[in-house]
Amino acid sequence: MINNVITQPLKCEMKDFNNLFIELTAKNCNQRCRHCYIDFPLNKNVNDFINTDNIKKALVDTKNDNLQCIYLTGAEPMSHPDFNLILRTCLKRTNVCICTNGTYINEKKARFLKKVEEEGKNEIIFKLSIDHYNEIKNDEIRSRGAYRTTLVALKNLVKYGFNPILCITNYYKEPKNVILSEFKKICNAIGFECQENNFAINEYFDKNEAKDILMNEWENLDCEYGRILTAKGVYTCPFLANDHRGRCGSDFSDYSKHNTLETPYCNICIKNNEKLFGINFNLFKQ
Ligand code: SF4
Repeated sequence: MINNVITQPLKCEMKDFNNLFIELTAKNCNQRCRHCYIDFPLNKNVNDFINTDNIKKALVDTKNDNLQCIYLTGAEPMSHPDFNLILRTCLKRTNVCICTNGTYINEKKARFLKKVEEEGKNEIIFKLSIDHYNEIKNDEIRSRGAYRTTLVALKNLVKYGFNPILCITNYYKEPKNVILSEFKKICNAIGFECQENNFAINEYFDKNEAKDILMNEWENLDCEYGRILTAKGVYTCPFLANDHRGRCGSDFSDYSKHNTLETPYCNICIKNNEKLFGINFNLFKQ
């Protein structure tokens, strides 16, 4: 889509509703990554979990939409006390992508998750966050021990036949080919026969610096193909979850399919040239 004159906020319209993001918690996470777009409180024990009834209602309200995938997001979605129930409920509808730092995935959990997947016809996909192939550099921006924890999760998932996507924020601004080849070596060493589409590398933009709203064309924005449900209502995308600028309504019985691109986050999306949160299913085949 092209707009030539940028005098007022650019308007964007949903093309299709393929991706339903559900924020299971806005602030509960056991890590504090330097580049995370969430503004965290100092206390890690926040109990702001979404009510499962809200999720069930969203699934009913969107029953006529062609959902390709439901994304369970957070902060850390696997910290939700009803995580297993939510996963099963969503899997009955379509594929489910769990966006996680991997902390909760020990061998027993990976085995259990495979069993849950085998109960139906839809797939569980994992987006595992890890930001550098070097342990020290990774843990410097995520938290101490994060690197090992994520690799243990990766190993366990691969052991039980999952095909995870590693989500890498290129915080140190390294060439993508270097990142890819170093991560491939790590994956090969643990027996994961990965392909290029097992890696989602996103450039790092400081949200406080990306203020130059100088954008006039875009494609494949997350807000063109989905919405996010949070405990507070419906918003355009994970970046703008619980932010008044992304507010679309209180639930999916009546919500807006229009939004304006006027935040620094929108610049980040446009610069990225591909959905930042949604999976490109044309490239990613299980
Ligand atoms: S932050 Fe990105 S996905 Fe969200 S409204 Fe802006 S352009 Fe769309």
